[in-house]
Amino acid sequence: MEDKVFCILSLGSNMGDRKQTLEDAVAAIAANPEICNLKCASFYETEPVGYEDQPWFMNTCVSFETTLEPLELLDFTQSIEQDFHRERKIHWGPRTLDIDIIIYGDLEMDTKRLTIPHPRYRERAFVLAPMSELTEIDAEIPEDKAIRRIDG
Ligand code: ATP
Ligand code: CA
Ligand code: CA
Repeated sequence: MEDKVFCILSLGSNMGDRKQTLEDAVAAIAANPEICNLKCASFYETEPVGYEDQPWFMNTCVSFETTLEPLELLDFTQSIEQDFHRERKIHWGPRTLDIDIIIYGDLEMDTKRLTIPHPRYRERAFVLAPMSELTEIDAEIPEDKAIRRIDG
């Protein structure tokens, strides 16, 4: 029997129907037979980070256990991004859907395609706030950007 690994993903959208996109993406993740015990945090509206002249994002995090290897998980999340016709014109700019792998068990890796834990998540309230609903976080939530939890 393969070991299951506890993972956290961050999801964000700031183009089109952001809430519907996140809901559909979470459903697509949950539908993978190699993913179980999926939990989804609240949705948050967040001020853009990095490139600021763009609409606010909607963000959430999911946690789950998986038998997928790290690169298989990245292939899977990137295939979901493609399904949402994500376009990447401006670095850190608007996108229909972004899915980042934040943690994969206690694995640490740094390769051309994949760095785990995600190298910038501790600076990002839009990751840490939803993530803190799912697991203990190892950083203070920064207060430099506005962030608002969506009810319901
Ligand atoms: P940031 O990583 O700062 O949030 P971004 O999400 O806008 O920026 P992308 O353009 O979505 O960056 O991703 C660029 C590349 O980052 C991807 O093609 C992927 O190979 C690589 N990458 C490295 N580590 C990760 C990770 N932990 N999760 C997702 N992608 C990663
Ligand atoms: Ca990202
Ligand atoms: Ca990304």
